[in-house]
Amino acid sequence: MSAGIYAGRQRIKTLLITKEFGGQMARKAVSIENYLGFEEISGLDLIRKFQGHLKKQEIEIEEATVRKIKKLDRIFSVMTDNKKQFKSRAVIIASGADPRPLEVPGEKEFIGKGVSYCVACDGPLYADKEVTVVGGGNSGFEAAVSLSNYAKKIYILEFGSKAKADKLIQEKAGKIKKIEVITQAALKEIKGQDFVESVVYQNKQSKKLIALKVQGLFVEIGSQPATSFVKDLVEFNEKDEIIADPKTSQTKTKGLFVAGDVDNVPYKQIVIAAGEGAKAALSASEYIQKQK
Ligand SMILES: Cc1cc2nc3c(=O)[nH]c(=O)nc-3n(C[C@H](O)[C@H](O)[C@H](O)COP(=O)(O)OP(=O)(O)OC[C@H]3O[C@@H](n4cnc5c(N)ncnc54)[C@H](O)[C@@H]3O)c2cc1C
Repeated sequence: MSAGIYAGRQRIKTLLITKEFGGQMARKAVSIENYLGFEEISGLDLIRKFQGHLKKQEIEIEEATVRKIKKLDRIFSVMTDNKKQFKSRAVIIASGADPRPLEVPGEKEFIGKGVSYCVACDGPLYADKEVTVVGGGNSGFEAAVSLSNYAKKIYILEFGSKAKADKLIQEKAGKIKKIEVITQAALKEIKGQDFVESVVYQNKQSKKLIALKVQGLFVEIGSQPATSFVKDLVEFNEKDEIIADPKTSQTKTKGLFVAGDVDNVPYKQIVIAAGEGAKAALSASEYIQKQK
């Protein structure tokens, strides 16, 4: 959205293609407290503010999923799932990241039937139920704190010997009695009939398999860059992030720029993604001017 605003203000003919608005901000379970100008704001409210700002620009919007990007001579073709094809001189990829899956038996079968990747979306469905959060990073702890408004018991399963979340959020969770942190826990299986009924983890030290009776499981083990549509035109680092020139945001393909969580800038934050969107749009504008 930031790239869209900057491109629109550069008076470049701009089309913004997106599956939906908000991206990962819509998954934010507790308030956002580190975006400049807002001491405390919910993810959904910040999305609305961004969208309101975007609507003021003279740019076109297409709600669709990009399936493929190709380049022939100096022109890109962008193909979408609604069978449309768009031509452009420059493209900015800002497709962010998707939640990283657990890849254990039962995960796929129980998506929407107890397995969730979004506490902000599904948390209220677990009122008075017992749930597991997999992942002891900031997202996992935030998820558990948010779930404590609904669920009667929350287990946080952390793979390592101690949770990696910041001290502040760990302290907050520590004051909530119904949150229990289990370390050295490797999740092995999700079980149930029609809905999740239990999860099985292995204690990494004793090797014992332990079952927890829970009705829900929230996956909070990080994310993976959303790049399936652009494999041939870019280079990736070891984390599958798109490599770009830090000065211009340009990838190895001329005219193809990148911004936000999908690129190889190490810090994944809203303010950083927004700044990178601005930088990519200004670079794209300069590139187009030089082409003319
Ligand atoms: C649970 C959680 C809590 C967080 N808390 C904070 C916080 O408190 N403060 C903070 O600064 N950051 C926080 N973050 C990180 C922050 O949300 C991200 O850094 C930021 O959202 C990155 O923005 P982005 O635009 O690069 O990517 P995303 O937010 O992932 O957005 C990508 C967009 O591209 C769309 N898209 C993807 N693929 C396609 C395609 N093929 N075709 C069309 N559209 C596509 C998606 O639908 C989405 O709209 C949090 C993240 C999570 C998951």
